[in-house]
Amino acid sequence: MTEVMTSIKKRLIACPTCKQLTEYSLDNAYRPFCSKRCKLIDLGLWASEQYAIPVEMNVDDLEDNLPTQQ
Ligand SMILES: [Zn+2]
Repeated sequence: MTEVMTSIKKRLIACPTCKQLTEYSLDNAYRPFCSKRCKLIDLGLWASEQYAIPVEMNVDDLEDNLPTQQ
């Protein structure tokens, strides 16, 4: 009898991005995704967020390649 209520309270769904079972609850701000990362991937934003890392590294490369001016 209590099984029905439990299944309503804790409903497991498969994350659209990684197919991992995640709890569909109001506590999960990224539902129906399992995490913020999966939501960003689905929205196509994850690529742009990753892109920020090489940009920072390029700055260091530029500084290393700068000719020493004296
Ligand atoms: Zn996921």
